[in-house]
Amino acid sequence: MKFVAFITMAAIAVTFNSCGSESGKKDVQTNSQAESHQQVLVPEFNADSAYVYIQQQVDFGPRVPNSKAHAQCADFLLSYFQKLTPHVQIQNGQVQTYDKTKINLKNIIASFSPEKSRRILLFAHWDTRPWADQDPTDQSKPNLGADDGGSGVGVLMEIARHISVSEPLFGIDIILFDAEDWGKKGGGHESEDSYCLGAQYWVKNPHLPSYSADYGILLDLVGGKNSQFRLEGHSMNYASFLQQKIWKTAVNIGYSDYFLFQQGGYVIDDHYYVNQAGIPSVNIIASSATTANGFPKHWHTHEDNMDVIDRKTLKAVGQTVLHVIYREGSI
Ligand SMILES: [Zn+2]
Repeated sequence: MKFVAFITMAAIAVTFNSCGSESGKKDVQTNSQAESHQQVLVPEFNADSAYVYIQQQVDFGPRVPNSKAHAQCADFLLSYFQKLTPHVQIQNGQVQTYDKTKINLKNIIASFSPEKSRRILLFAHWDTRPWADQDPTDQSKPNLGADDGGSGVGVLMEIARHISVSEPLFGIDIILFDAEDWGKKGGGHESEDSYCLGAQYWVKNPHLPSYSADYGILLDLVGGKNSQFRLEGHSMNYASFLQQKIWKTAVNIGYSDYFLFQQGGYVIDDHYYVNQAGIPSVNIIASSATTANGFPKHWHTHEDNMDVIDRKTLKAVGQTVLHVIYREGSI
């Protein structure tokens, strides 16, 4: 993914609900709103499990489309989700990258309670970038993509495990998009559509002809140590209501160190295309106020390996998303 523009960080004034000011990382949260007699049990996100799921992907090596590691990881992800739900499919597509490489992409799609009409789409990209072009050395070699690719998938694997045990009120679809990161380096509009090829393919060829969801949440770069998540621009433009809901939820359950009410940049990422397809979607993505490109310093370098992955960050993101999806429809 890439930034189109980066806006100077500016604090955004936000009014919090007083009923949500209590913070605490409880194993099970209950809905305490007075008007509701309904108790909503939110499962405890296990960051150790998510960490292992990231390690398992990284152990295949870089998951660059057309590579052996990519094919092996696809099989691994397919068999993992098949154990959780009978509704799993791989969407195969042939696309051409900006550098004229033909790739066979595989979008991995797992659905829970497909009969429900109210739905939430959770997504991440599972491929990794073919080059570490932000690294001072070995730029032409691929990195391991522990955070960029692996972390979002690992968190969704752990969330899926909970959904398979205890269904939320809304149906859930998980899409692991392929070929997100084979994009052209540098800014400018000409490079925009070179990223997110799997998401663009899916938007043109949805896995169900009339597929829709109430909203979508994208997880990208969600495992880095001391990561900070700011209010990404396209998410704010398309799905401000959802962005506010996610960030307020995070703060209310004790993760204000991670989720900052500050303006982030505009990131071309899979959510950009899903938003254009009519599903309001938010990107939870780490940003940095100190790097020139606006991303964490391990982004697109060889430092993006298991050493940067922190269970505390995985927990903050995973627990927040679980809260949002389990509370949906409960009032
Ligand atoms: Zn990337």
